[in-house]
Amino acid sequence: MFDALPDSSLTHLWLPSLIKAQAIMDVGVRLAIRHESAVRGETPACREKCAGCCSSRHMAATSLEIAGAAWHLRRESSPRSLAALDRLCGNGPDEADDEGCPLLMDGVCAAYPMRFLSCRQLVVFGRACSRGEDPFRTRRADVLTPLRTYAFKSYSLLLPHLGVIGMPGSPGEMDSLLTGLVQPVRAHGNPILITAVPGVVGARAA
Ligand code: SF4
Ligand code: SF4
Repeated sequence: MFDALPDSSLTHLWLPSLIKAQAIMDVGVRLAIRHESAVRGETPACREKCAGCCSSRHMAATSLEIAGAAWHLRRESSPRSLAALDRLCGNGPDEADDEGCPLLMDGVCAAYPMRFLSCRQLVVFGRACSRGEDPFRTRRADVLTPLRTYAFKSYSLLLPHLGVIGMPGSPGEMDSLLTGLVQPVRAHGNPILITAVPGVVGARAA
């Protein structure tokens, strides 16, 4: 159970960086939506409780973001949060044939304020995704292209806490680096182990 973990071990220096990274990403996404909506003459199909994307095995995050979600759930400590935390730790009953995000509880994200950067960036136009649909594959033209400068700044804040030494020189280099850091949510280890060491995944060069 996650509650064996002392809360102090979760309040690392990485938390302000993660929260700032989320805020920067949100600003970039808002600007991109405004522009894209004006061009298309329509608003995104994404709506509250629309969770087809969360049911996809393709949702991915860095280990730091997993730790952030775990921190949030433990801080909330409601029965629902703790159940989601158990699922994130690989315990607890999964929803039937579930390959989606362990934080999806009754069709709603249990850690919405700390949802992953990839979730924050994923915005779809046209129609809502079907359950488990990966719109990048099925209809890339409907997927919002985020503003790369904001995504770059956002992920840059996470890198020092992921053991990355130095910064990538361009958004393209950042994309290559993230390929090794961003993994499907269920592929990460237990958040207890992730958060146990401040330099989360060991040093590597940008
Ligand atoms: S990405 Fe697709 S499933 Fe997710 S909120 Fe938007 S429309 Fe709904
Ligand atoms: S973190 Fe939340 S928004 Fe992101 S995939 Fe999981 S349930 Fe969906």
